[in-house]
Amino acid sequence: MVVAAVAAGAFAAATAGQTIDNTTSNGTDSGVTPLASSHDAEEAEQSLGMGGGTPVVAPEVLPADTDSDASNEAEQLAASHEVTQERLEREREAARRAAEEAARPSVVKPAEGTLTSAFGARWGSSHNGIDIAAPIGSPIHAAADGTVIEAGPASGFGLWVRIQHDDGHVSVYGHMNSYSVAPGQRVEAGQQIAEVGNRGQSTGPHLHFEVWQGDGGAKLDPLTWLAQHGIHY
Ligand SMILES: [Zn+2]
Repeated sequence: MVVAAVAAGAFAAATAGQTIDNTTSNGTDSGVTPLASSHDAEEAEQSLGMGGGTPVVAPEVLPADTDSDASNEAEQLAASHEVTQERLEREREAARRAAEEAARPSVVKPAEGTLTSAFGARWGSSHNGIDIAAPIGSPIHAAADGTVIEAGPASGFGLWVRIQHDDGHVSVYGHMNSYSVAPGQRVEAGQQIAEVGNRGQSTGPHLHFEVWQGDGGAKLDPLTWLAQHGIHY
């Protein structure tokens, strides 16, 4: 105990700027803790900022909770606004597409050209379609939206394409020079499907166009069907 007290006192005295010699000279011969008192040591420690425990600092009261709530709310509002904008944008896009779809003709001319033969009796037999004369290579268009059900060689037609339309009718295109669609393919009114040719039983470059009342159904007068949709040759 004594040794420790002396050591502590000596340390405290030294750090306080005193010398061991000075304290020793102040002491007695008893040899019992002649050095700095514990009080002195405390003073020395305090003067050096040593010990004394952790300084008490007033807890910093941050309004963090309310602030973060407010900013979360702002973020949520911003996000909500963004979501609303995206939804409005999608709705505008859908409306624009619907308007485009509504404006798109449901039936178009299968080919530009000159009507050279009508539907019906011809040369002692029945002509099951109409003929539209046009130069070889002229575009042939799907007359209406539908699905291609056949594209390839056909007796009398040379090559033909048949399209099943959404209203149940089937349109048939014959004598073409080439075609660019395949069975199962979805086509839109006006989409090019082939080029005018002179294949099969044909007396010159033209499109032979038929309209059937369903696949394998009665052959209708294409001019009547076209006229019902506002298309006239
Ligand atoms: Zn014909």
